[in-house]
Amino acid sequence: MAILDIVKYPKPILLEIAIRVQPDGIEKEQQFIRDMMNTLLDKGGLGLAAPQVNMKKRIIIFRYDKSDIQVLINPVITSTKGKMVSEREGCLSIPNIRRNIKRDRVIVVEGFDRAGNYIKIKPKKNITSFVIQHEIDHLNGITILDGPKKRNLFKQKKGKEARWNLISTIIYKFN
Ligand SMILES: [Zn+2]
Repeated sequence: MAILDIVKYPKPILLEIAIRVQPDGIEKEQQFIRDMMNTLLDKGGLGLAAPQVNMKKRIIIFRYDKSDIQVLINPVITSTKGKMVSEREGCLSIPNIRRNIKRDRVIVVEGFDRAGNYIKIKPKKNITSFVIQHEIDHLNGITILDGPKKRNLFKQKKGKEARWNLISTIIYKFN
């Protein structure tokens, strides 16, 4: 059991695009995922992305209910609904700074759980939606210091393209 060091801005890994975990590599990540969970509990954040602990992989974790921590590997937001809202956000990698970020309130996110099973999550609470979007931003090298322009570059990859990325992962898994 380990508590990992949080990478602080502007370390380059926070500005890079993380790499997808191959389905046959999920087994190998179990210890790392446990360490991520311990780190989140220790630091008291709402979510954590692998690049924040110096691992360039598409793994995020977030608090789902009060005590549960959900793991999402290769997460993709496949749909959004309704109006966007602005909320004040902080980040473990950027201490003492809070910024208003406009995000979707209602999202559907798909990916794989820590056992490598496909999962689809529709968060009931807005805060969970925001945290998931914040953590996925980290996988794309985006932080709360970036403006909407950079964030939108990745938003365009929703819908068809996002779904294709997800499907290609599934095909890989079952081939
Ligand atoms: Zn963050």
